[in-house]
Amino acid sequence: MTESLSNPSEQYLDFRSDTVTRPSAAMRQAMANAAVGDDVYGDDPTVNELELWAAERHGFEAALFCSSGTQANLLGLMAHCERGDEYLCGQQAHNYKFEGGGAAVLGSIQPQPVENLPDGTLPFDKLAAAIKPDDNHFARTRLLSLENTINGKVLPLSYLAEARSFVDQHGLSLHLDGARVYNAVAALDVDITEIVKYFDSFTICLSKGLGAPVGSLLLGNKEFIKKARRWRKVLGGGMRQAGILAAAGKIALQENAARLKEDHDNARYLAEQLNTVKGFSTKPEWVQTNILFAKVDDGINQTQLLSTLKEKGILLSKGNPMRLVTHLDVSRDDIDRLIAELKSAL
Ligand SMILES: *Cc1c(COP(=O)(O)O)cnc(C)c1O
Repeated sequence: MTESLSNPSEQYLDFRSDTVTRPSAAMRQAMANAAVGDDVYGDDPTVNELELWAAERHGFEAALFCSSGTQANLLGLMAHCERGDEYLCGQQAHNYKFEGGGAAVLGSIQPQPVENLPDGTLPFDKLAAAIKPDDNHFARTRLLSLENTINGKVLPLSYLAEARSFVDQHGLSLHLDGARVYNAVAALDVDITEIVKYFDSFTICLSKGLGAPVGSLLLGNKEFIKKARRWRKVLGGGMRQAGILAAAGKIALQENAARLKEDHDNARYLAEQLNTVKGFSTKPEWVQTNILFAKVDDGINQTQLLSTLKEKGILLSKGNPMRLVTHLDVSRDDIDRLIAELKSAL
């Protein structure tokens, strides 16, 4: 799926994902100057500061700096569930579909997916029907895992409140894959605590729209994070002078979260402009955050189109619908350039 670039130092205009963002000059400076220690001993002041700050800022007891969102989700699942337990999630959930089956492979935890509705939510009647009775025949249902944003869509706050009542009623815990939860914050224009207060645990990707080069956070109560910290070491995720990375992560959270709205406005603009390209069609009014999907006419040879654009220094993902993502390294002028190149290539 991911083809490597012939010259990675070349500065491509890249619409494939928000994972491609490059660290800012301020981040590189903070990384170079970060105070560090051995984080496995708990001695890295910059990691400790980030974890403490993040816990307090989000209204949680504790936080854990992890190497990736995949690892943070896996640690969350492994800290909530034991061997032979299961978690409920969406058929489209990243931590079911796109993480290599890690919960099953490494945690002996069974996923129980249900179909996502078009708005990304999971219907409570389907979830209730999937909960197993307390019986030796069945895995023990322990957890509901939601994702926000999911495929660029924001889960309504009222749905999150309902999810909380649902898990309380059924004795489950509630986890949020919040890789892009700050995009939900920007779209809803609420404080982050208005979203995460419903959850027992959640993750944040620092390395997507927030622009850090590496790293994610997992948040929960002290006992939960203690368990997750142990599993992180077991999985080989205990990093040593990780303050170099945490220094960039702190800037990502404290400075870049505030500019995500710009990416959303750009995504809406990109959707409108794509509708002026013959063979492309989108629904700008469906664009809620920084991810959009465009239908591409079958008559268009995507392989050829993508290679023509690549020669012009522009990267797109193949697919129908085609997924396009805006981020801090894409400006409005860049979008105009993409549209002009698309028109000329077609
Ligand atoms: C990207 C992503 C992850 C995983 O993050 P990585 O840092 O790429 O491992 C998890 N969940 C969602 C929803 C994501 O988009």
